[in-house]
Amino acid sequence: MQLRRKWVSALAALALVLAIAAGCGAPADRAKVDNLVVSVIDVGQGDAILIRTPGQVTLIDSGDVPARDKLVAYIRKQGITAIDTLVITHPHADHLGGAVTILDNFTVRRIYDSGQVTTSALYRQYLAAAKKKNIPFALLAGGQEVDIGGGTLKILNPPPTPFGGEAGVNNNSIVARLVYGNFAMLLAGDAEQDAEAAMVKKYGANLKSQVLKSGHHGSRTSSSPAFLKAVAPEAAIISVGAGNEYHHPHPSVLKRYGDNKYKIYRTDTDGTVTVTSDGKTYTIAKER
Ligand SMILES: [Zn+2]
Repeated sequence: MQLRRKWVSALAALALVLAIAAGCGAPADRAKVDNLVVSVIDVGQGDAILIRTPGQVTLIDSGDVPARDKLVAYIRKQGITAIDTLVITHPHADHLGGAVTILDNFTVRRIYDSGQVTTSALYRQYLAAAKKKNIPFALLAGGQEVDIGGGTLKILNPPPTPFGGEAGVNNNSIVARLVYGNFAMLLAGDAEQDAEAAMVKKYGANLKSQVLKSGHHGSRTSSSPAFLKAVAPEAAIISVGAGNEYHHPHPSVLKRYGDNKYKIYRTDTDGTVTVTSDGKTYTIAKER
């Protein structure tokens, strides 16, 4: 009897050791990834970019209202129940539309936005939901850095004095250069030419990144030649809805990308586009 009890304890101890080894470093609220995994999710016309590092989960933008259930399903399918950082680049519906649904379906640990206030119901509901859940909330501007668990978001925009005018909301988008070892991806939000010019002036060749998430869905208001020259990407990913009413991406932008020999990916034809990097090299995979 005593011998049997010893065996049971030994087996229990072994099971505990195996459980600890299997779960080493992986919190219960997400599946473990060994590398950087960035998914530009197919949410139709809008942006939603899921960034996973070995340490954290970050979501940049939340797509538009019609895609919110699809977005939740996609993130859940990755084994994620908690999002460490939610960034809303600017308060237009195609970036903010899924935010309340994200807050309702996942534990969100902190929120950053551009500090732009709008009068839309979507914006008020998002603020109210964040407040109700007591989620730490802060603003981001150029020059700040956000640790995302093994990688860094180097914030390039908005500038200290926000842009005005009709394109102000887009131009004040949060733009981040995601750095993971020697790999960099530039996440341009909906920044337009004025913001691009200011970033070129301020950061110049420091914008250089292997992959560009195109500004403003490949609109001709963005991807100006000087900006592209500074970023000098090898691949561009356009987050865009099939047959969208804005006719994004613009043929002139596609031509510019083609002339520069970028590999072009677009969520309307490729589905979700996923970039994986070990900090040295990277690969890009299409859903279809
Ligand atoms: Zn947009």
